[in-house]
Amino acid sequence: MQTLPEAGDTTRRRRSSRGTTGRGGRRVFNFAAGPAIMPRVVLTQARDEMLDWRGTGISVLEMPFTGPEFTEILAHATEDLRGLLAIPGNYRVLFLQGGAYAHHAMVPMNLLRGRERADYVETGHWSRRGIAEARRYCRVDVAASGERDNFTRVPPRQTWRLNPDAAFCHITTNETAQGLEFHWTPETGEVPLVADMTSDFLSRPVDIARYGLIYASAQKNVGPAGLTIVIVREDLLGGALPGTPTVFNYKIQADNDSMVNTPPTYAIYLAGLVFNWVQDQGGMPAIERLNRRKSAKLYAAIDANGFYRCPVAPADRSLVSVCFRLSDESLEARFLAQAHRRGLFNLKGHRVMGGIRASLYNAMPEEGVDALIDFMEEFSRHHG
Ligand SMILES: *Cc1c(COP(=O)(O)O)cnc(C)c1O
Repeated sequence: MQTLPEAGDTTRRRRSSRGTTGRGGRRVFNFAAGPAIMPRVVLTQARDEMLDWRGTGISVLEMPFTGPEFTEILAHATEDLRGLLAIPGNYRVLFLQGGAYAHHAMVPMNLLRGRERADYVETGHWSRRGIAEARRYCRVDVAASGERDNFTRVPPRQTWRLNPDAAFCHITTNETAQGLEFHWTPETGEVPLVADMTSDFLSRPVDIARYGLIYASAQKNVGPAGLTIVIVREDLLGGALPGTPTVFNYKIQADNDSMVNTPPTYAIYLAGLVFNWVQDQGGMPAIERLNRRKSAKLYAAIDANGFYRCPVAPADRSLVSVCFRLSDESLEARFLAQAHRRGLFNLKGHRVMGGIRASLYNAMPEEGVDALIDFMEEFSRHHG
């Protein structure tokens, strides 16, 4: 006899948005740009520990942030992230709030250190947001811009005009809306390199020592919304603009282990589970290999026959934000609707760009990419 879910039972339906089985037991894949897919085993573990964290009798949601249990969760998350990225001892790891958009402002607030100008490299939507925000605090010099190429390539380093008096040089390592990624680390001499790494953080190894500061919202490739991770070289701290609010002051946050006020405790706990999951996958080199394989397959399918096209220069294409168009753009709405019916969710491009975007974050299994490619081939056969 078949058992049907009760009318009020939402668990079965809710599962479908999380990336595996939807109604009817069919597999679904969530290609959302953020908040985005999370590893299934992490969600399962969080569910299992929801009411009673490891025999304490209380949920992580209920723990005082200054108590021994949460202190342990934070310490482990910090150590695990340090291990994954081999973060040198003279860098501090902060778990803050506000999202990358808040840190677009907090970076100049904290890093100007008495200087008046900063260099920014303009590569697309998110670097533009960062530039607009920084202009409220300092003189921004656009050291290079990809605007003339319609943001389809990263401006080569030899074209940048860097100012030796700049407080820092800011880049956006992955332009989530355009699908453009830095596959090299720019040399900026004595000027500290600062990166908004929101959408490619933890997607590949990073040589932290090449950067002065890195920041990333968690909801793209790490975990839940509400957490922003900052990794900053110690000697850059301490020169915040007068009037910088206490909780926005990286130095005060570093001196207080990110606990100047209540940190986003549950988000930090979930991020910690994701760090353990990344370790279990084999760490950053293994994650990078998988991400390269997934994106290479998908770009090959896009380039196959002219039905689809990706405007981004091949050398600068993102491993995690694969943005493309249908050559006949009038078919895109149908493509998205049919993909959704197939269980391929949230493939709509960024609202300023349109088109199709498949976010291939760490938690997207290779089978998800294979299912998308199968669908794309079938769709092009029917409409080509
Ligand atoms: C999503 C995104 C942001 C904005 O993140 P919020 O958490 O919404 O503030 C900033 N930069 C990049 C590169 C992003 O992908």
